[in-house]
Amino acid sequence: MNNVQQYKTHCRPKLTELLQALKLDKTYSRAEGNYLQTDSGEKILDLVGGFGCTILGHNHPEVVAEAISALAQGVAINAQGSIRKESAQLAQRLSELTGSQRGYCVNFSNSGAESIEAAIKHAYKVQFDKVRREYERLTRVLNDLYYKIEREQLEVEFPGDNKDLIDFRDDLDEYNLAQFELFQNNPVMIAFKGAFHGKTSSALKVTFNKSYREAFEGLSAIQPAYVDIHRPEQIAEIVDEQISTFYYPVLIGTRVELRPVRMTRVIAMILEVILGEGGIRPVPDDTLSYLVELKSKQHLPLIIDEIQTGCGRTGSIFGYHDTPLAEIEPEYIALSKALGGGISKIGATLIHRNIYDDDFGILHTSTFAEDDLSARVASKTLGILTRDDNAMLKRVRDKSAYLLDRLHTLQERYPTLIKNVRGRGLMLGVELTSLPDRSSPFFRASGKQGVLSLLVASYLLEYHNTRILAPLTTMLKGNPGKSRLSILRIQPPATISREEIDRFVDGLHEVLEIIENNNEYCLIAHLLGEPVTDDERKNSRHVPVRWPVVEEKGHIDSRVGFIVHPTTLDKLVEYYFPSFHHYEWQAEHLENWWNLISRFLEPVHVKSTYIKSNDFTIENNLVFVPYMPDYITQQKNHSLTQEVQGAGQNTGRRHHRAGTGG
Ligand code: PMP
Repeated sequence: MNNVQQYKTHCRPKLTELLQALKLDKTYSRAEGNYLQTDSGEKILDLVGGFGCTILGHNHPEVVAEAISALAQGVAINAQGSIRKESAQLAQRLSELTGSQRGYCVNFSNSGAESIEAAIKHAYKVQFDKVRREYERLTRVLNDLYYKIEREQLEVEFPGDNKDLIDFRDDLDEYNLAQFELFQNNPVMIAFKGAFHGKTSSALKVTFNKSYREAFEGLSAIQPAYVDIHRPEQIAEIVDEQISTFYYPVLIGTRVELRPVRMTRVIAMILEVILGEGGIRPVPDDTLSYLVELKSKQHLPLIIDEIQTGCGRTGSIFGYHDTPLAEIEPEYIALSKALGGGISKIGATLIHRNIYDDDFGILHTSTFAEDDLSARVASKTLGILTRDDNAMLKRVRDKSAYLLDRLHTLQERYPTLIKNVRGRGLMLGVELTSLPDRSSPFFRASGKQGVLSLLVASYLLEYHNTRILAPLTTMLKGNPGKSRLSILRIQPPATISREEIDRFVDGLHEVLEIIENNNEYCLIAHLLGEPVTDDERKNSRHVPVRWPVVEEKGHIDSRVGFIVHPTTLDKLVEYYFPSFHHYEWQAEHLENWWNLISRFLEPVHVKSTYIKSNDFTIENNLVFVPYMPDYITQQKNHSLTQEVQGAGQNTGRRHHRAGTGG
């Protein structure tokens, strides 16, 4: 068995198939600086680097030297339950770097998700303790009154229908207990739509993408409340709505009256200042200013997830320092990824001293956390990033300006293909448009399903030895009918040179030209194992689109839908790959590849036509199911039906009344 087969058999079967279908199934055996090296010695310019880990490049010599020297000195890695001096120094440094007066206590862990999990646990405990104390206090108030009335044989009137003292006490006690349990079993966290915070049970609850979440919702009691990054007023509404209301009794004359105590069920709001997995989307400054103002009026602990944005990625140690959030001292800051200098697995949760629960350092521990080796590597990394008056961070900003400039020029050249270029520092994203109506149906469909960005990544890897990736979310088929953005994630190291940036942008230029030319063949020939000459790719032939989308025009009286799928390879070429008519290729190559890739594609609404007769207009919608007959017969009806329904719902038009036809 070779490594690919081993990986497919013993590690990740489906992912391996996707990587194979996209020819991203490389094995890298070395990594140095800006490059990954394959088994066969090819050097690949890496603009992914663990989605943000390698801000200093792969295996930075000083970081590696630090690790080697630590190991050579016999560093104490396993010494739980002792004073961890390297972690102590690192924690102090991190706390200082926040600029906070009172400072932070730092909980170390082994990954990003764990550092989020620690923040969530702590935030929950803080609010849980408050609610419990209040609930217990109110229970004492109730019992005190109960005993007073009983002892003094008072004749009193109870609220509601209660006539009897014992019933009154039991009912109120039961009600308050239910409110307490409501908090305990339904703590609310506010997060942004598009957020990604990791894949452990609670971090996953505040990760927006439903495909990741839906099979695991019940694992954690956290109730996420997702807010649009452009509608911050929703945050205040949620804080107002999500409350547990307790009542306590007071004796007024001979009447017992009830008074409310409202306690929020919102334990925290969690946010990235730039949504990473969510498409490299910076949260607007207005939204962050709103949060700052809201915090001045209302208690709302903030967890700032700097796992991807932190440690230099955006040109600062903490990304929030470059936003309106710099005005506040957040309750929690989570770090990981680049903190490990690209070689250590380390997470850090900074917890503000104002709210730190002293028990937490005993309640929340982990065997490998706080090991001296990772802490030394992380301290070294921070040292490299901040020395010489933050020279490395300045370098990030310089490179960013150059890269952004080149990408914006590309956007001006291809306005119908590039919707947006965005991000900060060396955390940039290029969002492709949903493609113009005169684009190839294959490009349009893969654009809607996020696959186009992976095809671009595949092309750049094949012909330009350059590695970019789309958000991993793109790789999941799910949420049938929902568009998945095609975003290129560009997260190079600070050490990238201008020449290397040029090489990447020139490659991107070439691939955009191919897409603009509707030339499916040049984009995917390598995936079929078909040769294309450099000249054919660099001067790709323009192929006029055979199947443009027809825009909806005017009033329609009725609407029908047809579901079609390619019954033969010729039909597939006719509809999805017309450019193939201009080249020579082997039918079985396309068929094999299509059988591999199509299972990662979903049915998609591709076209509407309008039939007019005697003032009656019928809209005719076409839903294209990409699968060949063999695949369809292997499928269980259930999942296919669901996918087709999803595509039908996503025609983007209201009053849908689709019929089906063959
Ligand atoms: N938060 C953010 C913002 C992230 O980007 C990631 C990882 N992509 C995580 C949390 C989870 O980190 P890890 O994969 O180390 O668990």
